[in-house]
Amino acid sequence: MAEVKTREFNRASSLSIQDPQLRRALQKVGTGFDAARRENIVEVTPEVWEQWRERARQIKLHTLDRLDYYLDLLEQRVSQAGGQVHFAKDAAEAKAIVSAIVQRNQVRMAVKSKSMVSEELGLNRVLESLGVEVYETDLGEYIIQLAGETPSHLVAPALHKTKEQVSQLFAQKLGVPPTSDIEAMARVAREVLRQKFLQADLGISGANFLVAETGTLVIITNEGNGRLCTSAPRIHIGITGMEKVIPSLQDLAVFLRLLPRSATGQRLTSYVSMVSGPRRSEDEDGPEQFHLVLVDNGRSRLLKDPDLREALCCIRCGACLNICPVYQKVGGHAYGWVYPGPIGAVVTPALTGLKDAKDLPRASSLCGACREACPVKINLPRMLLHLRQQLVESRDPQQRAEDGGEKLLAQGYAAMMGRPDLLGLARGIGRVLQAPWEKQGKLEKVPAPPLSLWTRSRDLPSLAPRTFHDIWEKELSRAPEVQR
Ligand code: SF4
Repeated sequence: MAEVKTREFNRASSLSIQDPQLRRALQKVGTGFDAARRENIVEVTPEVWEQWRERARQIKLHTLDRLDYYLDLLEQRVSQAGGQVHFAKDAAEAKAIVSAIVQRNQVRMAVKSKSMVSEELGLNRVLESLGVEVYETDLGEYIIQLAGETPSHLVAPALHKTKEQVSQLFAQKLGVPPTSDIEAMARVAREVLRQKFLQADLGISGANFLVAETGTLVIITNEGNGRLCTSAPRIHIGITGMEKVIPSLQDLAVFLRLLPRSATGQRLTSYVSMVSGPRRSEDEDGPEQFHLVLVDNGRSRLLKDPDLREALCCIRCGACLNICPVYQKVGGHAYGWVYPGPIGAVVTPALTGLKDAKDLPRASSLCGACREACPVKINLPRMLLHLRQQLVESRDPQQRAEDGGEKLLAQGYAAMMGRPDLLGLARGIGRVLQAPWEKQGKLEKVPAPPLSLWTRSRDLPSLAPRTFHDIWEKELSRAPEVQR
């Protein structure tokens, strides 16, 4: 398994929230993708959109209920087409399977198209330890590989980088002159990677979907690199989570409508590649070997859990990230592992253990926006609450004592909200105390905790001079249209 740093969420998010460039990038990409998603819903009409979502959800739930049947069917069909299916119960087994294929075939160079599972396994390090040169070929993945970083978004892995940073990186690592022309930078990457596609022995891809009835691996991309990875090298390894299987091509049609619209707001991605086995005798090109590695790595545990199994319906579109107020402030790296955002806050504790990811279920305002945006209607807030409940139930006496302050605070808040006189008194005191730091309706840089924890990285709206109740009593309740 790749290095897990989820314990550091609080520290990492405190740092990233103070990075204005990251916040600008997150806002630009998040709001851009989300606005495009919403436009698509209007275009197809909200009624039709809801029907598609419901259909997609039913397909996923149906498949999860019969996962063993569909995995068997998939294995049969892939084998009939000349491919080989490998089941890996955990990360160690998956890495051993890939290592054996690499060593048996004396692989020297590998090209990869985007695969979250390979990030989950830390596959690049394994390949490099075997002496294999590895090249990520999705442009965003290539950039972060050169930078020695990890993806920060499910569909836009390098969104945290500015074009100036990419230009410097290319100048430093590829020896090309710096430029601010994005197309020129993309051309440089294309020229480098084109050679690697031609030289590589092995292509590694993930899969967006696996169609059981035809034994087909489906990759949805905008760059065409997936197509080259799966067809140019002499060996192709598809590596993905076992939950990616769906029953039929007819079912695939539903997801082809939903996924690009939810991810980037496109009606359809530029490339939809379908791979069924290695090259046949009549084919002009294609790999000589096709291996499909289906990874469990904690997914069976998730499947057995009635409260969390719904998370396996995820199609990794990133819509919940683009709309999440927490992700939009802290970015993907703060989540400490492969899967960021609301879905990461559920999946990471479920796959790595709640003990190592205890901050993540709390990294949510529970506003419910993720559930509304999700194309498969995953109830993320419910699962986050469930994980919080598990955390509370698993606390040892020392933790309980530490959490006593939080409980006291909640009780005090509840008491105050139930007593208008107390609330009014607290508001009056607050208004006096806030005066030294108030500026144009905001509090900036309060020097002492607890408010300083908030204001050191963003402003806090100050207590208004007049409350809504005041305005209501003195003005609105007497307005003619209210008096009716
Ligand atoms: S949980 Fe839903 S919205 Fe989030 S990535 Fe998965 S499918 Fe997309």
